[in-house]
Amino acid sequence: TLAFFNGEFLPIDSLVIPIDERGHQFGDGVYEVIKVYDGKPFLMREHLVRLENSAKAIRLEMPYTVEQLEELIGEGLTRADLRDAQVYVQITRGIAVRLHAFPDASPSISMTLRPAKSLSEETFNTGVKVTLLEDERWLNCYIKSLNLLANILAKQTASDRGCFEAVLVRDGYVTEGSSTNAYAVKDGVVYTHPANKRILHGITRAAVLQVAAEAGIEVREEAFTPEFLLSADEAFITSTTSEVLAITQVDDTVIGTGRPGPVVNQLHAKFRELIV
Ligand code: PMP
Repeated sequence: TLAFFNGEFLPIDSLVIPIDERGHQFGDGVYEVIKVYDGKPFLMREHLVRLENSAKAIRLEMPYTVEQLEELIGEGLTRADLRDAQVYVQITRGIAVRLHAFPDASPSISMTLRPAKSLSEETFNTGVKVTLLEDERWLNCYIKSLNLLANILAKQTASDRGCFEAVLVRDGYVTEGSSTNAYAVKDGVVYTHPANKRILHGITRAAVLQVAAEAGIEVREEAFTPEFLLSADEAFITSTTSEVLAITQVDDTVIGTGRPGPVVNQLHAKFRELIV
């Protein structure tokens, strides 16, 4: 494990965040999580471009270019001597006396590098149970903001209900999971919410849509209802840490056969081919 804060690599338990750091006080920043497989950060460029876009959306100037961040992450992985890892990168509006309006401060960057937290093959083979919850988030969910209170509360409710994930519903349509994108499969067609302001534009989502196109699997970027999800042949979620993970139960309703179906399995296998 290793950490980085404003120019310095540090032990991960270092006490380095000043009390007047805006990430700490306001959640005034953006972040990314990048998975590293066998020493290679997967889709790193895509993640860092999204980080830039998130920063731009909150009018935050990036302290480093994408190329500089790539180098920094590479250096961190070497220093930490990690092959299978998870890299967390956070940019905030910096350190300044606590006032809401933008301060005259330089942005802060922090980073942690840890061993990968991967799901077991058993979990992929059985799939997971999810619960439906009202989407109570703000209207700019495409920004990967540090403000995750609604996501945290949703995930905890899911956990309290013995579920892996909360699948969120806004205005009668499934948007996404609390930390994943969500999909339903009906008659061989994959449905997922369009990439607008109501969802995070998942890097895994984009990769899976590409893989589906290459495999000749039809995808419709159309919002679907909770009822549609409950009556789907298959369902799944995707994220950097969960890859492509079958949903086999939604609350009390078993999805399809109750086992990961052929479309999910094919998409996960093809997705994994991108990694090597
Ligand atoms: N939606 C939300 C709300 C998320 O937090 C995440 C993961 N950070 C995702 C979707 C999946 O995105 P990605 O595939 O880029 O990890």
